[in-house]
Amino acid sequence: MVDKKRISIVIPCYNEEESIPIFYEEICKIARRLEQAEFELLFVNDGSRDGTLEQVKKLAAQDERVKYLSFSRNFGKEAGLYAGLKYATGDYLAVMDVDLQDPPEMLLEMYDILQQREYDCVATRRVTRKGEPPLRSIFARMFYKLINRISKTEIMDGARDFRLMTRQMADAVLSMGEYNRFSKGIFGWVGFKTKWLDYVNVERAAGTTKWNFWQLLLYSIDGIVAFSTVPLSIAAVMGLFFCALALVMLVFVVVRTLIWGDPVSGWPSMICAFLAVGGAQLFCMGIIGQYLAKTFMEVKKRPIFILKETNCDKPDEKD
Ligand code: UDP
Ligand code: MG
Repeated sequence: MVDKKRISIVIPCYNEEESIPIFYEEICKIARRLEQAEFELLFVNDGSRDGTLEQVKKLAAQDERVKYLSFSRNFGKEAGLYAGLKYATGDYLAVMDVDLQDPPEMLLEMYDILQQREYDCVATRRVTRKGEPPLRSIFARMFYKLINRISKTEIMDGARDFRLMTRQMADAVLSMGEYNRFSKGIFGWVGFKTKWLDYVNVERAAGTTKWNFWQLLLYSIDGIVAFSTVPLSIAAVMGLFFCALALVMLVFVVVRTLIWGDPVSGWPSMICAFLAVGGAQLFCMGIIGQYLAKTFMEVKKRPIFILKETNCDKPDEKD
């Protein structure tokens, strides 16, 4: 028999005890249809407070394809993805949510495409944002427009993390050991040829989303800081603009005083100028502060995740 290709599926889970059994059942159906490949299901328990770990261990006891990594606390989905890719042993690696918002049957098509060896990665993007609050959709669209304008890395609007990639691409993703991980940008940054499959948004099978509007907003700022330094130039441009404005004002005041000799008037306008300049300065300091904060975190070189329990073998150290 020809040697079977191995597909590892990395599944970050945070408080997902209800979704795990449903997900497992669905993915088993797909594994049966993809007989020519061998599966590894790598659940990453991201410090869940419910029975997620017990559920995963139960599956691991009855199915040797099930592997798990369990963190010492909640480190976030990005850390889960990183850890999963690091410990996965497959020739092809998939990243999937456990809530079935990423349709498992798409794996069949993804695998076929990668087999033809033209692409290194097959990723998915939502064509509609149905089922999402309208305000969130508007902000999301604005975010993608903005970040693509100010960053050289291409970040696809509506892209999900759901994708299947080659070992080579996963290794490239792992070689980016940054602490502030913005996966959508990292996948774009490493390059490789990616085929995009469109699909219609699916609602969660069980449980609730971990994101609220505020968290998404902060996450988008993280993304911008991680993949663009354009905001830093805002300070310089604004500074120049205010210098020019001050010069024009100076000429205006001198000329007006010489002609009309009216030295005291105009102080409401002075207060306005004060506030404008003060506001602009604080805004610029805020931007610099964001970059400084991220630099601070990177410089500390803290681990991206801390493992408490696993049934995986130690990954090969490549670096
Ligand atoms: N997740 C995680 N750690 C977190 C938050 C979420 O591992 O801190 C997992 C979650 O269990 C799910 C996936 O990331 O499998 C996507 O989360 P969610 O469905 O809440 O996000 P959405 O689909 O709404 O973007
Ligand atoms: Mg989801």
